[in-house]
Amino acid sequence: MIDLYTDAVFELHETGHHPECPARLASVRKQLEQSHRFEQCRVHGSVPADPQTILRVHSQSHLDRIETTSRHGGGRLDPDTVMSPESANVARRAAGTAVGAVDTVLGESGRQAVCLVRPPGHHALADRAMGFCLFNNIAIAAAHARAAHGLDRVLIVDWDVHHGNGTQDIFYEDGQVYFFSVHRWPFYPGTGDVGETGAGAGLGTTCNLPLQFGISRSDYRSAVANALEDFARRARPQLVLASAGFDAHRADPIGSLGLETEDFAVLTELVDDVARTYCEGRLVSFLEGGYDLDALAESVDCHLSTLIDRDRERAASASQ
Ligand SMILES: [Zn+2]
Repeated sequence: MIDLYTDAVFELHETGHHPECPARLASVRKQLEQSHRFEQCRVHGSVPADPQTILRVHSQSHLDRIETTSRHGGGRLDPDTVMSPESANVARRAAGTAVGAVDTVLGESGRQAVCLVRPPGHHALADRAMGFCLFNNIAIAAAHARAAHGLDRVLIVDWDVHHGNGTQDIFYEDGQVYFFSVHRWPFYPGTGDVGETGAGAGLGTTCNLPLQFGISRSDYRSAVANALEDFARRARPQLVLASAGFDAHRADPIGSLGLETEDFAVLTELVDDVARTYCEGRLVSFLEGGYDLDALAESVDCHLSTLIDRDRERAASASQ
């Protein structure tokens, strides 16, 4: 059974008139209720992260700035990134959810988790908020998997339409966290060229697949399948984490790479295949972008139902 992490508290991060708004998660939760997904999963709420787990990735000054900004009533951290009085608390809970999901998935063979959290994380840098992101949830998850569980090969797959520059930057010279990103190019935030492959101990542990707007859906899917298969063979991950953004959907108002909802089933299958091949299925996904409320809800439902169906198939074949 899939572990589903979500909490109404994630809707308390207020952003005003902004694409990354509380209505995103409200729309997803409504869809998941209609399709009875909550009954099909183990549902968990959120817990706040211990500051030490955040500080594995972020600087003390960044953590302090997030706390102080909320305490002073909120404000703007960069042209796109807004905070409200509750935002620091909500961001701590998004990070804590990431840590808790990793503990769950690494605690027992075959577990998989989906984390429907806000704010998103993959643009957040070690010492700076950026692009709607306060703490880098997936980077905190990867760092926790290493520090608390002793893993030395974690694979992050990022299919958000924007390059996951924060995640890439945090692990660029790392060597133990492998980062794969498929994204629209050229596009915000401007990083993610094929030549960015890591440095020092991390040389070769970053793989970027930049794709131009106008690519066909079948070309997109085969490009991701081929590049991810090669990269996963090198990474041989003990845990797979996914930055699951749904803003490559053709209906997305700020992203789009022309994808349809069912393409997220294919992406989910590819990532699940990697997890099955290398690490007994251990997979945690994190909601990143996706700004058309209907397309987002349908796409998250498609991602989750694909994992649920595959999990049931495996359970049925294992019991025969
Ligand atoms: Zn995005």
